[in-house]
Amino acid sequence: MWYDLIEKSDPEIFGSIKKEVGRQRNSLEMIPSENFASAAVLQAIGSALTNKYSEGYPGRRYYGGNQFVDEIERTAVARAKSLFGVPYANVQPYSGSPANLEVYLALCKPGDVICGQSLTDGGHLTHGWKTSVTGMIFKSVQYGVGDDGYVDIEGMRRIILKNRPKLVWVGASAYTRAFPFKEVWDASNEVGAYVAADIAHVAGLIVGGVHESPVDYSHIITTTTHKTLRGPRGAIIMVTQKGLDKDPELPEKIDRIVFPGMQGGPHDHTTAGIAVALMEASKPEFKEYAQQVVKNAKALAEGLKKRGIKLVTGGTDNHIVLMDLTPFGKGKGVFVQDALDVVGITVNKNTIPNEPSSPFYPSGIRLGTPALTTRGMKEEDMVAIAGFITDVVDEVKANELPSDKAGRVACLKEFKAEIASNPRLLEIRGRVLELCGRFPLYPEITA
Ligand SMILES: *Cc1c(COP(=O)(O)O)cnc(C)c1O
Repeated sequence: MWYDLIEKSDPEIFGSIKKEVGRQRNSLEMIPSENFASAAVLQAIGSALTNKYSEGYPGRRYYGGNQFVDEIERTAVARAKSLFGVPYANVQPYSGSPANLEVYLALCKPGDVICGQSLTDGGHLTHGWKTSVTGMIFKSVQYGVGDDGYVDIEGMRRIILKNRPKLVWVGASAYTRAFPFKEVWDASNEVGAYVAADIAHVAGLIVGGVHESPVDYSHIITTTTHKTLRGPRGAIIMVTQKGLDKDPELPEKIDRIVFPGMQGGPHDHTTAGIAVALMEASKPEFKEYAQQVVKNAKALAEGLKKRGIKLVTGGTDNHIVLMDLTPFGKGKGVFVQDALDVVGITVNKNTIPNEPSSPFYPSGIRLGTPALTTRGMKEEDMVAIAGFITDVVDEVKANELPSDKAGRVACLKEFKAEIASNPRLLEIRGRVLELCGRFPLYPEITA
C-alpha cells in the first residue's frame, strides 16, 4: 500500500526498502539508540512539508507561504516546552550532533575549555572526544567512570575544579546507570560553568518518569528525538529556568546560532514528525511504555547474569545493558556481534571501562530494550532473548583474535564464512524468527 508508487517508479530503491523493512520485522533490534517511530510519525515525515523553505522562526520567516508551517513549528515548540517543563525550546536542529555543536557555538569561543564524559567510558563523541570537531576546536578535558563502572564523582569534581571549563556536559550514550545530574551541576556551579544535559538516550524515560529530569540541574538541555522518545531523526535544544536566570539572552543566542549561525532552512516534515511524536509521548500509554522499557532491561540483565554473563555495573537503571566479555578473553565483542547478526539479533560491539583491547575490537556488547518494547515484548520475552544471546556467546567465545593486523582481518573473514552455516546458530535463528512473528511490526505497511 504505502510504497506502491516507489515500486512503480524506482524498483531498485523499492527493492532495498522492502528488504530493510523485512529485516526490521524479522530481527530483534537491540541497538539502544534505535526505536520504531509510529506509522503516524512516518506519514508526517513522508509528507509534502519536505517541499517548503522556512528559514527563520514562526512569524519571522524569510520566504512567503509559511502560515501552515508556522502552525506546525509553534505546536512542536509548545509540546516540547510542556512535556519537559522548560520555558524555551528550539526544534530546528537537524540532529543531535549539530544541536550539540550549536550549544558550543552559542556559549564558547574556539580554544575555550569544555568538559564531558569520555567516549571510552560511555560518553558521546560530541562531548569533546578527540576525533570530533568538538575535541579539536575546544580544549577538552574529560571525566570518566571508576572500576565499578559508575561515573567517578570525585574525579569529575577534581577535573572541573582544576580546569574551570566554560561548559560542562552531562549525559552519555553507553551508560547503564542514572546520570549524576546534581553532582555535575554542583561542581560546575563552583566554577561558574554552563551545564548542558544531553538526554538523547533517556529523553523518553524522563518523560515516562523512570529517569530523573535535569531541569533543575542544567542551564541547557539537548536531546535527539529518535531514540527513546520514538520520533523522527531530529533534535531539540531547550533552555531551563535556571538557564534563563543565569543568562536571560540564552534563547536568543540559541535561536541565532541555529539559524543563521549553523543551519539554513529547517526540515519542516521532521518538525511535523517531532510534533506528532511529542503528542504521543504525552499520553498515559507512553508512560507505560517507558516503564516497560526499564522493566525489560532489568529482566534482560537478570537473565544474562543467571547464565553467567558479567555486566558493567552489574546491572541497569535504564534501557541499556552492557555485557563485559573479558572473562572469556579480550576483544570478543566483534565475534559476538557478528554471530548475533547471523541469528537476527542486532547489537553493537562497545568498549567497556578499562578496555583491554581497542575501540575497533572491543570487549563489550551494548544491548537495549526500547525497540523491542515498542513491538510489545515483555519480561518473559527478555528472558528468552537472554537465553539466545548466551547460547550464541557460548558458541563463539573460544575464538581468539590474532595480535597482528593482517592476521586479524583474515581470521574475521574466515569466522564470518564459518558462522553463516553454523547449525547451532541457524537453529537459534529459527527461534528468533518465531519470536518476531508473534510481535508484528508495522501491520499498516504492506510492502
Ligand atoms: C545519539 C547521541 C547524539 C547524537 O545524535 P545524532 O542524531 O546521531 O547526531 C548526541 N548525544 C548523545 C548522548 C547521543 O546518544
